[in-house]
Amino acid sequence: MEVSTQRIGILGGTFNPIHKAHIQLANAALAACDLDVVLFVVAGDPPHKQVAGNTAAAHRLAMARLAVEPYAHMEACDIELRRPGKSYSIDTLAALKSMYPGAAFFMIVGGDMLANLPNWYQAQALIGMATFVGFARAGEEEAAELARKHLEKAYHANVLLFTTHIAPYASTQIRARVAHGLPVCDMVEGSVDAYIYEEGLYLPQDVALLYQICKRDLSPRRFSHTAGVVRTAIRLAARYGVDAKAARLAALLHDYGRSVEWDALGHAVVGEKLVRETLGIQDAQVLRAILYHTTLYAGATVLDKVVYLADMIEPGRKYPGVEELREMSEVDLDLAVYHGLKRTMFHLEQKGIPVQKNSIEAAQALFAVCKEKGLL
Ligand code: FE
Ligand code: FE
Repeated sequence: MEVSTQRIGILGGTFNPIHKAHIQLANAALAACDLDVVLFVVAGDPPHKQVAGNTAAAHRLAMARLAVEPYAHMEACDIELRRPGKSYSIDTLAALKSMYPGAAFFMIVGGDMLANLPNWYQAQALIGMATFVGFARAGEEEAAELARKHLEKAYHANVLLFTTHIAPYASTQIRARVAHGLPVCDMVEGSVDAYIYEEGLYLPQDVALLYQICKRDLSPRRFSHTAGVVRTAIRLAARYGVDAKAARLAALLHDYGRSVEWDALGHAVVGEKLVRETLGIQDAQVLRAILYHTTLYAGATVLDKVVYLADMIEPGRKYPGVEELREMSEVDLDLAVYHGLKRTMFHLEQKGIPVQKNSIEAAQALFAVCKEKGLL
């Protein structure tokens, strides 16, 4: 005898990467259909072609797991990854039905997909196995309604149709933004954003290669810090109108000197030379940002400041006052850099380490700028 009937939503996709619109869609389905859980079924790697960006299924699954972690009624599901060969929806549904006997299944699809449903593999059988939940975007309602009527009449399908205001994000757009050095922190969950930069996903080949070099030559802790600086510098570069690719490159290589030199100041000088001579980076603005990332200087460019600040406030940094600096970084770059620099200089003095002339001059210059802006 069945005690309760679980209501299980299925949201399938390559999730390359999973983004906030997926989460919104799942939330909408949970509420609209009174579901107990939504399973994010991650599609396997197609046997004869690769998913866009060549993103391994393991990465796509890892991101799905991270994204749903904060949500009690969502789960990432690897059932299609554990089965060799192409996974048809009907096979997945059949497998899930045997895993959850007695459960009612709801296939969550975009409104535009409903019309295409009859073309799915073994459509008639599939349509009989679940309720189809379509979410139509504004402007798509009429076409979706037509598709629903056809499915009901020709296939005796159970179709529930809703209109949504889900963010129009697409994974394609997110991959393109990452490739161009543009932030995606508003489009994906924070944990997914971190994962993308830790793993160096969706990068152009030249940058991906430098990522591998950094991963090889830096300690895991230093590499993780570097990934955090890249992620932060990209956000700051977009906020303050700096060349995104230059900011990404400078952030990625800012601590490359740490691969051979541990001195708190010296690693910047050694790093700049290594990056120039060994890695062949020619971009003068990038090299300068690396050279001055520990001290700054009076005429620092916006790029220099972005890298300096990203180094201080990347998500892995934990010290009293870092949260205030992060908040300030959203308000005014000069103000945040000024406070960051003052803090560093104070700590050097406390330790009896002489403060570099460049830093003193930079602090004076920033003080004057902030004063002029009425921020101090
Ligand atoms: Fe450094
Ligand atoms: Fe650093």
